[in-house]
Amino acid sequence: MSLQGQYLGMNVAIPDLDQPNQEFYTHCGQGVLHLQACVKCNLLRYPTTTACPWCSEPESAWMPVSGKGTLYSYGEVHHAIQPAFRQFTPYLILLVELDEQRDTPSPFDGLRINGNLADASGELATPELVETVGIGSRLRVVFKSIGDGMAIPLWTPDTEIEQESPWRYPDN
Ligand SMILES: [Zn+2]
Repeated sequence: MSLQGQYLGMNVAIPDLDQPNQEFYTHCGQGVLHLQACVKCNLLRYPTTTACPWCSEPESAWMPVSGKGTLYSYGEVHHAIQPAFRQFTPYLILLVELDEQRDTPSPFDGLRINGNLADASGELATPELVETVGIGSRLRVVFKSIGDGMAIPLWTPDTEIEQESPWRYPDN
């Protein structure tokens, strides 16, 4: 058995053996981003894993997080390998640093989550929206339901605050 969903016409299957990812995407399906917190050192982590990357403790507990963060880095895809993404090029692959646990456990660490840019309803961003974000943009998580109680997290500009001018890679 597995959880079965669909995204952009592609099948998504997460087998029962992969309990951590089933739980991660099911929490997303319920509308609140959760991350695993180590029961020994208390550090949150991403991506989901079966042991703490800092202290190796296997036990963890799911903790809700704010789902707000800052764009730490990004890549812009102009040639989509997945056919389902071709209609959305150029699109961004984001690395979002969450507000929780910045500079922890060292000044070079933080909770950084990859994902795509979307509008407020979770649809992949138009090129016009893509042009508005860059490094430093304030983002919040949105969810796109994919079925079987699951959703995938995507990121959209936080419109409740005034955005400072983000840094973008120069055009060639
Ligand atoms: Zn730990």
